Amino acid sequence: MAPAQSFTQTDFIREIIDEHLKTNRFQGRVATRFPPEPNGYLHIGHAKSVCLNFGIAAQYGGTCNLRMDDTDPSGETQEYVDSIIHDVKWLGFDWGDRLYYASDYYEQLYQYALKLIEKGKAYVCSLSADDIREYRGTLTEPGKESPYRNRSVEENLDLFKRMRAGEFEDGAHVLRAKIDMASPNITMRDPVLYRIKRTHHYRTGTKWCIYPMYDFAHCLSDSLERITHSICTLEFENNRPLYDWILDQLNLESHPQQIEFARLNLSYTVLSKRRLIELVQNGYVTGWDDPRMPTLAGMRRRGYTPEAIRNFCERIGVAKNDSLVDMGLLEYFVREDLNQRAQRAMGVLRPLRLVIDNYPEGKVEEVECPNHPQNPDMGSRKVPFSRVLYIEQNDFHENPPPKYNRLGPGREVRLRYAYIIKFAGVVKDEETGQIKEVHCTYDPETRNGPPSDGRKVEGVIHWVSAEHSIPAEVRLYDRLFQVADPMDQKDDFTNYLNPKSLETLTNGRVEPALATVKPGDYFQFERLGYFCNDLKDSAPGNPVFNRIVTLRDSWAKRSGQEKK
Ligand code: ATP
Ligand code: MG
Repeated sequence: MAPAQSFTQTDFIREIIDEHLKTNRFQGRVATRFPPEPNGYLHIGHAKSVCLNFGIAAQYGGTCNLRMDDTDPSGETQEYVDSIIHDVKWLGFDWGDRLYYASDYYEQLYQYALKLIEKGKAYVCSLSADDIREYRGTLTEPGKESPYRNRSVEENLDLFKRMRAGEFEDGAHVLRAKIDMASPNITMRDPVLYRIKRTHHYRTGTKWCIYPMYDFAHCLSDSLERITHSICTLEFENNRPLYDWILDQLNLESHPQQIEFARLNLSYTVLSKRRLIELVQNGYVTGWDDPRMPTLAGMRRRGYTPEAIRNFCERIGVAKNDSLVDMGLLEYFVREDLNQRAQRAMGVLRPLRLVIDNYPEGKVEEVECPNHPQNPDMGSRKVPFSRVLYIEQNDFHENPPPKYNRLGPGREVRLRYAYIIKFAGVVKDEETGQIKEVHCTYDPETRNGPPSDGRKVEGVIHWVSAEHSIPAEVRLYDRLFQVADPMDQKDDFTNYLNPKSLETLTNGRVEPALATVKPGDYFQFERLGYFCNDLKDSAPGNPVFNRIVTLRDSWAKRSGQEKK
């Protein structure tokens, strides 16, 4: 079942499909596919394509295939296949029994190549790779025809079969389409269709030593799967005539329509598998699933929900021109989603001891705390309150700056869901002068209610009981890069990594109910942000909380949007 969608949106792709339905171009069918190459983990850019392809299929009552576009053996692995399957499922989409592998089509693609040769539409070229490039010409000059261009059909068939049989060295020959070396579209200047490459393929092993090029394999895979709309990113616009040429030459009944849209670019990160591999391999991050990565695995570990990512993808829509989307917009959707579904809890990231002098020693009260301030259906929980608490270091200030509405000398604040307390003094480390603990008194009449004399207090701060709370490691994440567009700089993009993208706090304390959290559970820590118990590094009783997002919304404010 595809996730519920509003279907209110339309865009140029859906308009094309509507038109095809009207003219009956595909007999009323809508069949899309998501075709990742298993040479890396999926990132948020892929999510845009996943949501688009599966979303269209769901909207039109059609189908969407998941196809591993695995025709280049170098860098493709089963680990990547597994991760892709896991991530697309996690995003909430279902391809039924339509999981395909382009590598399963190798024999069929080879037969198509033979057919092209027989029709005089492809030839074996024995120029070196450098010469092929040289002969190709430029945007302003036409190319030159290869001296091998007029080999006979028989010779081409013989050579191509021997290419497959492994009689030649890598690079000795290639198979090329015979189109037009003077075409203004360089892609059409006799593009290479097959090359010899003795590289182990993660599925076919050493069965093949020739591999089809993307342009050849892709359109034919689409056709074999009877795709109707082959949606891809803008950089393939010039390849569309080749896509059509191959299908036309082979006279195939199923001839999908290729449609291009602008890829997603997101600020403060990079969305290219090649760059992401660099970050992983050179240890700039801890892996593909590092919570700072723009991969789906990283976002899942960070605590982003599939719903938030889908809402984001729906909101950005599709366009025909490239743009840079603000990371704050994605964070906005994460926050919106978590605000509704995350239980509230109290946690103290940088603890400061707070002693309530007039609270009886040994006494423990259970304070009732709602799990969600706007949603009583989410219930409540009891949090132990005692004489010694922890509060956040920055919720006390000896010389409070203007507008500081927390605890300080002479001040009163409310402890969230509990009493009003009044400052009584501080204890400092004799040597360093650092504040070791703050003392205060509490007003027993103010539990859950306003003071009877109507006096106002400064503000509300959160707390946990020193004795009852449990320790937690907390990881605070910031943007992976310091600049909005790391790929648009003069020097290497890794020079722009944010050295402060991760801050680890090891002294955190959280309320005791969180002793039983499971990996992946998330909460709003009151006043601090949303946090997710790490999928990998947490253990029972030893939570590790990743900060998903803060509570501050940078996007809605900046863009003048009303908050819902
Ligand atoms: P990368 O540039 O990260 O290596 P790719 O295009 O080589 O990406 P593929 O595995 O070939 O990666 O992509 C699978 C599908 O996802 C393709 O249809 C591609 O167009 C789409 N896709 C990849 N990156 C983006 C992006 N940033 N925005 C939207 N769609 C994308
Ligand atoms: Mg690709």
